[in-house]
Amino acid sequence: MEAFFGGRGHKPFHGRQVLKWIHKHGVTDFAAMTDLGKRLRTELETVAEVRTPEIVIDQQSRDGTHKWLLELDCGNRIETVFIPEEGRNTLCVSSQVGCALDCRFCSTAQQGFNRNLSVAEIIGQVWVAVRQKPDHPLTNVVMMGMGEPLANFDNVVRAMSLMQDDLAYGLSKYRVTLSTAGIVPALRRLREVSDVSLAVSLHAPNDALRDELVPINRKYPLGELLPACRAFIAGDRRRKVTFEYVMLDGVNDSDTQARELVRLLRDLPAKLNLIPFNPFPGSGYRTSPPERVEAFRQVLMGSGILAVTRKTRGEDIDAACGQLVGRVQDRSRRHLRILAESRLVAC
Ligand code: SAH
Repeated sequence: MEAFFGGRGHKPFHGRQVLKWIHKHGVTDFAAMTDLGKRLRTELETVAEVRTPEIVIDQQSRDGTHKWLLELDCGNRIETVFIPEEGRNTLCVSSQVGCALDCRFCSTAQQGFNRNLSVAEIIGQVWVAVRQKPDHPLTNVVMMGMGEPLANFDNVVRAMSLMQDDLAYGLSKYRVTLSTAGIVPALRRLREVSDVSLAVSLHAPNDALRDELVPINRKYPLGELLPACRAFIAGDRRRKVTFEYVMLDGVNDSDTQARELVRLLRDLPAKLNLIPFNPFPGSGYRTSPPERVEAFRQVLMGSGILAVTRKTRGEDIDAACGQLVGRVQDRSRRHLRILAESRLVAC
């Protein structure tokens, strides 16, 4: 923003003012940015635009989870999920339209890949959520929506730094989390440019099974992924890597596999997040029974690995992990009217 203003012959600090207007005050109309000179405001109206994602569908779950389907441009839609909890409010943000990684148990994968989101489209999801939920101040962001964030590296890094910036959302490094299926070179690069928290979608205790469930593992196997995770948190003793592990009945949920996982993660400051599989039509997998998940968890805990079973949220509105597809379910009049009114529909 400073470069934008500097480049137009203005004082760079106007960049800070405009950032604050947009993100802290939610103002998108340059005319209302009253601490900028009149001439500058008029200039901005002709050369710049603040465009926010359009809410196409707004769904609230019985458990308070909120999901928005957002329209970006013609036909490109993404989903953003707001999860209120005791003492914290988390936003699950998308980084791409669709996903190219093809993890077997994820419904976003089935949709295919369309394109990367821009910085504006990523931070725009935060903007929308904060405006929609004035009574629930945002405390955490997880890059765990649609897409593989490390495959959209530059835009995701810039958007996350806005999430952390005091002129925008001011979230601490412990409250912005990037989740990756394990694109190792990008993970190594991330450490150089960002200090956000790391979650890694592990899902299997060995390469043979991970190759099958998370195909990117064939390119970057565990022998490369785990050292990169260790390097990521090196130097900060408060940090742990969160490993996500989807519990698939009869596939990766045995006690033997839990013990294998313990050996795999030995010496790595780690926390395990066990996610009951959220089924979707045609997935071919079943959710592990709750007793199995608990037994698996006990093996990990017994070996000193902190393991938490993630409570599934927003299931009734398909807002749970792996259920985000950006599909349009609503063909109602209201939906068509919104589309018709959108300036973008003409493209
Ligand atoms: N591509 C990134 C970001 C997505 S995060 C990543 O893989 O980490 C979404 C999390 O939900 C990932 O851990 C993903 O593996 C998990 N997930 C995907 N499909 C799921 C499903 N059907 N049930 C439960 N978890 C799922």
